[in-house]
Amino acid sequence: MDIQITADRTGRVVLFSARLRSEEPRSEPQPLFDPSVPRDDADFLPMCAWCDRFLVDGEWVEVEEAAERLELFRRSVLPTLDHGICPRCGGTLLSA
Ligand SMILES: [Zn+2]
Repeated sequence: MDIQITADRTGRVVLFSARLRSEEPRSEPQPLFDPSVPRDDADFLPMCAWCDRFLVDGEWVEVEEAAERLELFRRSVLPTLDHGICPRCGGTLLSA
């Protein structure tokens, strides 16, 4: 991507332009976030809405680790995501 940032003659207006030179193919979407995947309404997976980590066995972990620990890619039905906030993000927000 080419990005150009310039100021006009007055220096009070910044002009921004971007041009995409090439694009890499996108990976498959995370099944955990795919709304078309069937969900178990009785199985909830807590997720931090701020940092996208998941609560697994009492520990907040990244999506890849959550998927591995819970063997999410082997399941045909995934847990329902339960959005909340983890203690780390909660502490950050309260201190701001
Ligand atoms: Zn968080």
